[in-house]
Amino acid sequence: KAKARGRGHTELFDESMGRDAQRHLDLENQLRHDVESGSGALSVAFQPVVDPASGHVLGVEALARWNCERYGAVPPEEFIAIAEDSDLIHTLGRTVLRTALEHTAWWQSLHPAFEVAVNVSPVQLQRPGFAAEVQRLLAQTRVSPQHLCLEVTEGVLLEANEVSSANLRALHEAGVELAVDDFGSGYSSLAQLRRFQVGKLKADRSFVTDAPILRAVADLGAALGVRVLAEGVETAEQQRALVELGYPQAQGYLWARPQPADAITDLLRSRQQVPSATPVGAPAGS
Ligand code: C2E
Ligand code: MG
Ligand code: MG
Ligand code: MG
Repeated sequence: KAKARGRGHTELFDESMGRDAQRHLDLENQLRHDVESGSGALSVAFQPVVDPASGHVLGVEALARWNCERYGAVPPEEFIAIAEDSDLIHTLGRTVLRTALEHTAWWQSLHPAFEVAVNVSPVQLQRPGFAAEVQRLLAQTRVSPQHLCLEVTEGVLLEANEVSSANLRALHEAGVELAVDDFGSGYSSLAQLRRFQVGKLKADRSFVTDAPILRAVADLGAALGVRVLAEGVETAEQQRALVELGYPQAQGYLWARPQPADAITDLLRSRQQVPSATPVGAPAGS
């Protein structure tokens, strides 16, 4: 098709292909350097998880951040995919987990029930010894396994093999909670949720505007004895729906964006509560 529009277009097309390939290569090289040198270009942001009715902080989700020297802030979806394709994900994932647990040990001194959630790539779960490594980091940081939640996507359950199943089983036996992230966007079955003893369903962000779907997820959680959380909450209307449906946990820009560890410490020192734009129960438009 590009050719039919003439030579000029073809060249532009080829050039942009070349640029994408160049960017990918640059990113992979720079990421390898930053991951292996433990450079400050890689960091972890923390988004508060709150009780949607009160705004009380229950914990945080750890989210990897990378500020590439050449391209600036790279979206996690892009650099996590590069890390997965190049095996850097093991070191990167371990660094995120260790950083999250180190901060959590301190945050628990301000808020004993504080919980931390960390995203885990399917590639990490395919490595024998992953569960043992998580347990070692828990022991080193003295965070109890009950306060750690590992988030996986539905694909992890669908494509589980012997190694990943053994890792998931060992983590469950150690007391670590398993959450299904972006729940409803993939293909997990009820049988798999049972089999892997999932402890939490994080309703995909795309459902936050869809109250009937949120209700179905809440009902499913109740039927399976699994906690539910709604992600991507941005408006007071969405918040009200979650409170009505009895969601115990939520995350979203309405309360807080992912932020540096120091901001979480300040939050816990001051109020342990995040005021949303419009408090529940306040008259509309106030
Ligand atoms: P996720 O685990 O589903 O994380 C939630 C994403 O939604 C985050 O994007 C967060 O910043 C964003 N978000 C939170 N509240 C709102 C909201 O109210 N509105 C909108 N529009 N977005 C909201 P982020 O940080 O860009 O991360 C994207 C994805 O990258 C994550 O999705 C996760 O799948 C992956 N990721 C991030 N850090 C890691 C990591 O350390 N390891 C692995 N394996 N994956 C990671
Ligand atoms: Mg997540
Ligand atoms: Mg998610
Ligand atoms: Mg996601």
